[in-house]
Amino acid sequence: MIHPTPRLRFAPSPTGNLHLGGARTAMYNWALARHLGGAFVLRIEDTDRARSSDASLQVILEGLAWLGLDWDEGPEFRYRDRTFGGGDYGPYYQMQRLDRYAAVAERLLASGHAYRCYCSPERIAEVRERQKARKSPFLGYDGHCRDLTDDQRAAFERQGIEPNLRFRMPKDEVVKVHDLIRGEVEVNTKQLDDWVMVRPGGVPLYNFACVVDDLDMKITHVVRGEEHFLNGIKQRLVFAALGAECPHYAHIPLILNQKGGKLSKRDPGVMSVLEYRDRGYPEEAVFNYIALLGWGFSGDRDVFTRDEMVDAFAVENVGKAGAKFDVDKLHWMCGEYIRRWSVDELLARAERWLVPALPDGALAAQPAFWRNAVACYQERIQLLAELPGKLAWLWARPEPDDAAAKNLRKHADAAQWLSAYADLLESLPLPPSYPADRGDADQLVRLPSQKDAPGADCRWATPATIEAATRAHTETAGIKFGHFVHPVRAALTGTNKGPGLFDVVFLLGKQHCLDRLRDVPNRVQSTT
Ligand code: GLU
Repeated sequence: MIHPTPRLRFAPSPTGNLHLGGARTAMYNWALARHLGGAFVLRIEDTDRARSSDASLQVILEGLAWLGLDWDEGPEFRYRDRTFGGGDYGPYYQMQRLDRYAAVAERLLASGHAYRCYCSPERIAEVRERQKARKSPFLGYDGHCRDLTDDQRAAFERQGIEPNLRFRMPKDEVVKVHDLIRGEVEVNTKQLDDWVMVRPGGVPLYNFACVVDDLDMKITHVVRGEEHFLNGIKQRLVFAALGAECPHYAHIPLILNQKGGKLSKRDPGVMSVLEYRDRGYPEEAVFNYIALLGWGFSGDRDVFTRDEMVDAFAVENVGKAGAKFDVDKLHWMCGEYIRRWSVDELLARAERWLVPALPDGALAAQPAFWRNAVACYQERIQLLAELPGKLAWLWARPEPDDAAAKNLRKHADAAQWLSAYADLLESLPLPPSYPADRGDADQLVRLPSQKDAPGADCRWATPATIEAATRAHTETAGIKFGHFVHPVRAALTGTNKGPGLFDVVFLLGKQHCLDRLRDVPNRVQSTT
């Protein structure tokens, strides 16, 4: 009987990074466990000793923790202020469970479901070559040792050959299975060979160790990639051989690239989960985006919280067709989340990228100034790592990029406009330039949605008063406002993009504005 409490697991091999596909598998198991009120177990399948590494294990643990896929049982791990893992069904590392595999292997040998195979690797390779040469539809072990007599076995043992243990597959039997995603499927065992369960030396291979663990850990549902579908058939037969019922299986389709082909690590935007973290993708956005790779929340909503996902998640609703990875949509999702934060949260989350980029100690010395600065970009970034580059014009005099230089040269009178504008700004009570103490100017957190609301009692010119003075100035001078703003912005920020011009003037402060307006046009003219 399947254990009544739902228990799901993610069982990575620590042989590389945690990529999108692995993270999605973990997430669907996690979400189903949470939805059903069950347990989520993390088991480390580390029997491939040559390829497993501690570094890879750390990356997996940290990646899952970063995405908030907290495991109730498994390796103990601390991330930020939380501890994951522990549990009563351990050890959760396969290499610590060898005795258990040996005991179950003995049972299967005794019942005749397993047998010892003395074939050398050379013989196995030859058999395969011969099968290939005659284009055999069946590629695999030919069952040479399947029915050895006791005498034959004893003779091999005397030669000191250490056997592999193979599972005796039923020949030509149709296995009917129910997959939670694929529905009813029939597979003929003809296409599957007698596979190796345990290598000489006692290290088990995946299909066998997986069944022993799923059984011992009382796993009720297995959600994993469709590449394991045929493994699922082998595993069902092992469960049956042990007189046990297998878990419910759900095999989720591949993640595809934009063209519908197999996703490779070289596809743009595909990275290990921790690389997304390190490049400033908000974890909620990555979580939300991964959830959508094969599953839909609702017809008209793509942005949802973790709790909403858990409430709505049903593995039966995962699509049968491969899900396409769309890097633009992932970036869009990141922007959506960033816009939902308070400015304080944005600043706190951006700290990791800002501190190394800003002048020493700047953030701690003038938090209000930087809160204003990042607020101006909240609508304009998708990744936190973009902020230092976007803000660089504040602390380093920018070299106008090509488009900005073009704008500076477009109107013959631009140099004159800029110098007259410098004179105007000189007459206004602009806040002092960063990094001077800007006092109460920096109490003015300017959310784009609250244009200038708190400006009334500010002793400095605010973006609103700067705008009013600028409009009056261009009107008097007979300059089209639309023509005027481009060279001004180019001179102040070095680009044609960015926040509103009056936010720029306000943030940059008096001296920097004057210096740039008076100097940049000369430099641009002189290089033409
Ligand atoms: N270690 C296997 C993998 O990483 C686990 C497959 C399974 O979930 O059964 O693909």
